[in-house]
Formats: sequence, C-alpha cells, structure tokens
Amino acid sequence: MSTKVRFAPSPTGLLHVGNARTALVNALFARAGGGHFLLRFDDTDRERSKDEYAAAIEEDLRWMGLAWDSSARQRDRLPAYEEAFARLRVADRVYPCWETPEELEYKRKRQLARGHPPIYDRAALRLTDGERRRLEEDGRRPHWRFMLQPGFVGWNDMVRGRVEMQADHMSDPVVVRADGTFLYMLPSAIDDIDLGITHVIRGEDHVANTAVQIQMFQALEAEPPAFAHLPKVADIAGKELSKRLGSMTVRSLRGDGIEPLALASYLARLGTGDPAQAAPSLAALAAEFDIARYGRATPKFDESQLVQLNAQVLHASAWETVAPRLAALGMTHADAAFWQAVRGNLNRLEDARPWHDVCYGEITPGIVDATFAAIAASLLPPAPWDESTWQGWTQALRDTTARKGKELFLPLRLALTGREHGPELRALLPLMGRSRVVQRLREAARAPSPVDLGQ
Ligand code: GLU
Repeated sequence: MSTKVRFAPSPTGLLHVGNARTALVNALFARAGGGHFLLRFDDTDRERSKDEYAAAIEEDLRWMGLAWDSSARQRDRLPAYEEAFARLRVADRVYPCWETPEELEYKRKRQLARGHPPIYDRAALRLTDGERRRLEEDGRRPHWRFMLQPGFVGWNDMVRGRVEMQADHMSDPVVVRADGTFLYMLPSAIDDIDLGITHVIRGEDHVANTAVQIQMFQALEAEPPAFAHLPKVADIAGKELSKRLGSMTVRSLRGDGIEPLALASYLARLGTGDPAQAAPSLAALAAEFDIARYGRATPKFDESQLVQLNAQVLHASAWETVAPRLAALGMTHADAAFWQAVRGNLNRLEDARPWHDVCYGEITPGIVDATFAAIAASLLPPAPWDESTWQGWTQALRDTTARKGKELFLPLRLALTGREHGPELRALLPLMGRSRVVQRLREAARAPSPVDLGQ
C-alpha cells in the first residue's frame, strides 16, 4: 500500500508557523516515500470557517513550495458522514443526549467540587421513553455522543513511541450538535478511512483525539492509520505560539522578507536536534527526511536563527531566480555582477537596496581626509573599469601615500559607500563607474572637520 498523508487545517485563520511545520512534515513524508499529499479543509464549523482563509492557506502553502496532490473539503462530504453516522446508530455506538450547555456545566462543576474527573455521566442513556418524549415535546433537539468502549487504547506513535490511553477516563465525545451539524472528530476519522490515509501526522494537542478516533475506526470496521504527534512549537521564551491572527503567521514572516526555502529548512529541522541549516531545495529536505528524528521536547522557534538561514538561502540564490524580484522591488539597474557582488551581505532581499543606491544611485558619502581624497581621485585610472581596477588603483595609492591596511581602505569605503562595512569594493567599483566615484571622493573631501567622520 502506498503512503498517503494529509494536512487538515481548519480555515478559521491564517497559517501560523506551527501548522506550517505540520504541513511541511506531511509533505516531506509523502515526498520521501513517493507517497500522496492531500490537503483537507476541516470546515464543518460553518460560522468560523471562511473561504478567504482557505484561499490564504493555499497561497501560503504554495509560497512555501508545498504542492499537494489532491484536496478535499469536509463540507462537500456531508453525505458520507451521514451514511457512516447511520451505521454507528445501528451499531449503538452513538446515542442522543438532551442536556443543555448549562446543565452540562453544572454537572461538570459538581464533579470537580467532589474531586471527580469531569467525565460525562451518560445520564442520557438512563432516560425512560417517556422522559425522552417529554424533552422532545418541550422542543429540545438532541445532540449525539460517540460511545467509547472501556479499556486501554494504544498505538505505536512514530514520534512518541508507545502510547496507551485509558478510555474510561474520557468523556464520550459529542459528534453531532443539536442543530445536526458534525463536529470535527468523527468526520476526520471518516475522511481518513474513505480517502485512504495511511499516516496521520499532526500536533500533540490531538493525542487524546487519536484514542477516540482509533475507536471510531474500529467501530466503522476500518484499520486505523499509523499516527505521529509532533510537539507544539513554542516561542523563544517557551510559550506556545499563539494561533492569533498576525502572530507568527507564514504571511507575516513573508512580509518580513523571509525566503520560503529558509522557512522550510528551519521548520524541517526544528525539534530534530540537527543544527539549523539552509537546504538547497525542498527535494534535498525530502532526501534527508526521517520522521524518527523528531523528538518529544517542545522546540523553540528562534527568529534570529531563521534570519541566518535566510541569509544562507540568499547567498546561494542564482541571479536568474532573484532578477524579477529585484526588478519588482524597484531595483531596476541590478544585474548579475551586482548580485554576485552583494548577495553575501544580505539577510533579506530588501537589504540589497542600499547597495543598489551605492552602485547606481545617490548616497551620502562618509567624510574623509581631504588631501587623501584628492590624491585618490587623481590616481583613478581611466574607464573602462573591471574587477582588476581596484587592485591597480589602491596599489598606486599605497605607493603615493604610504598608507596601508585599514588606514588606506576604510576612508575609501566610507567615501564610496557611506558605510564602514559591505561587499568587496573590488566588485562594487566597476558597478559604480568612474564619474560616480570621482563625485563621491569630491563630496567626501568637503569635510568641515574630521569629527564628523562616519556621520
Ligand atoms: N483541523 C484539525 C486541526 O487543525 C486537524 C487535526 C488533524 O490533523 O486531524 O487541528
């Protein structure tokens, strides 16, 4: 049987990094094993599910390079849920309950006050026919619960190892609301059966659901899939990353200039103990992928590491891939030589802009010693310039002024770029061109006093 996995977001918000990691791990698992990756929208909650969020999640997954082989929406599959639910009714594995939310809350509080776990007491099963009729006559509509069987439910979790859960300690879950709509739990199991899911990889917040769903698979006479529960990602302070809109979403990282491959590389290794490192491609991530490498400890999302990976990805990016993006950012003069010169100095693509100004636009040169600047200007070789120009020019300057090292190079860098650090001047010089360099040396020499150096 070939592998089939699914990523099953609820379209109730934007994709945050925790869910993006779940999506990525599923996609890599499928790719690594030549399997199938299904995108399923868990949209049975009609009020909170929004088409805009589904579209945004799709766009973010595509941006990350996570193509899915097929997709499904739970709202399109209601007849399948009705049919399975009818089978569970015949098998007496679901039962109607009439308690109101207030009554349930009251019971819960009472149980807790007595030191008992707040487990549903199955009072609905003890109602007489007459009592049921009266409730119906009062206009109450039942919700339905799945009846758990007592005893242990266990599985060999691909991340957590052997897991055993005691079903006696769990409430029978509500599967259908009083308005007839399905909650997440049962449709998910039905989908996993009908759509042939072989491995369910999701967050550890679903561990208890898995115990319930294994019983659902069994009640529907299906073989449960294999399960893997990844620990939730925490922020650097160890707090769970919130699902709140705008906080650590894929979209916000994208807006901050994070490259998709940097994010994928970072998330793929997060929680494996392997050092964070930019991979050359998603295929490379799939090739090294092994779900057994993920541990149970809560991984911390460290944005500064992600930025380092971002720099690595940019340093390795070919001119052809960035050319249209630089143009779209308005850096229209950039060419392959420019990219070659500056890419090693970027954390984000946007960081190329000041260097674009240095090479093709206007900057404010740093103030340097006027005599030195004048000599430097007088020794500039004639155009055309190439990468050897720098060497010849600075050699002549060294011979004339007897300056060397920092004393020679720093004023030149300040005058030509306005900054103390940056890409190699050897590469920048021919991009700036002679007239721009002459003008900057002149401006740099117009120093009121050396006190202003570096301003
Ligand atoms: N919609 C659920 C969630 O986003 C899916 C859980 C699952 O993978 O089964 O948490």
